[in-house]
Amino acid sequence: MHLSEILYHLGEDRAAYFQAIAPPIIQSSNFAFRDIEHMRSCFQDEFSNHLYTRGNNPTTKILRQKLAALEGTEDALVFGSGVAAISAAVLANVKAGDHVVCVQSPYSWTHTLLTKYLPRFGITCSFVDGRDIALIKKALIPDTSILFLESPNTMWMHLQDLEACAKLAKERGILTIIDNSYASPIFQNPIAAGIDIVVHSGTKYLNGHSDVVFGALCSNEAMIRKIFETEFMTLGAILSPNDAAMVLRGLRTLPLRLQQSDTSAFWIAQQLEKHPKVSTVNHPMLDSYPQVELARKQMKGTGGLFSFLLDVETKEEVFEFIHRLKRFTLAVSWGGHESLVIPMAVFFDMPGRDNPSAPLQLVRLYIGLEEKEWIWEDLKQALACI
Ligand SMILES: *Cc1c(COP(=O)(O)O)cnc(C)c1O
Repeated sequence: MHLSEILYHLGEDRAAYFQAIAPPIIQSSNFAFRDIEHMRSCFQDEFSNHLYTRGNNPTTKILRQKLAALEGTEDALVFGSGVAAISAAVLANVKAGDHVVCVQSPYSWTHTLLTKYLPRFGITCSFVDGRDIALIKKALIPDTSILFLESPNTMWMHLQDLEACAKLAKERGILTIIDNSYASPIFQNPIAAGIDIVVHSGTKYLNGHSDVVFGALCSNEAMIRKIFETEFMTLGAILSPNDAAMVLRGLRTLPLRLQQSDTSAFWIAQQLEKHPKVSTVNHPMLDSYPQVELARKQMKGTGGLFSFLLDVETKEEVFEFIHRLKRFTLAVSWGGHESLVIPMAVFFDMPGRDNPSAPLQLVRLYIGLEEKEWIWEDLKQALACI
């Protein structure tokens, strides 16, 4: 289906609501049954009917259809956060005694789910450097039920070969899940590579305006129905109809926003690479990036995120650079209009915490929708101060 068909028409039954262009927000917790027969059929199959908004809601349903089509799956579920979608995908596919293989340094709360939460139920996890398929293969044991991927991966932008991972997992009867938040469905389609479930922190690019926290889970109909009837209905981490409408509005400009961030971030990465105060730039599409061939094979773009190493010795020098920046906001998350920065140095020498394994010179940038020259000027003047 063409991207424009998905974003501007799919799931929108305008005749049902006065030909309104913007979908209505069905802000109702409850739905009435026409009669006893209708009530009986709704209770027999809540997945296919409107009964109560913890299950289905018409506004949310439009969003589900668009997200499924964007990822090329039969259906999707939306959640009140990305972490809720990740947790539902994992919890629905493990039982006591199972083992999960996950890429090294996944998103922090994915890591907590796998290391602090699942062990309470007798589920273990191994973390591997996902750049090397041989290491993934070595980590698989007979009890492995899930291979959890995140490509690109935060901070270093490390990639996994999605086709190779999917093939290996299929041979062993292992389910593959990928967190596709960083690439977005615009730049990477894991389902086409053979991955089983795609999850998103839709808080980032999909909504794209830094004003809604939400998550998405895309897969085939049987998997979506299974998760709907267990984790989705019991944990109840739903997205409100109001927020679903906000996300639908955000989605209208998804390709434009991503293209703008992608073009600017790549150009800024190229400028940084030439700067004497910068030692390495980690951007998957740069010629110098060790996995550039794989990046070009499985991704159509990168989006606004990348990282680089400052050529300095101390935390204080990194902080000086950060404080000199005027057009970047010091904040987590990303995917909105605003450019953001996170220095790894901030996590060093924190009381009661181990220092990160990454060097203190590492800085992550998110390039938003501003003019790229305006953002580069700011970086240049801050680099000149250190
Ligand atoms: C932000 C993020 C999450 C968590 O999503 P929330 O919407 O904040 O729950 C998960 N994975 C990745 C890669 C993220 O960047």
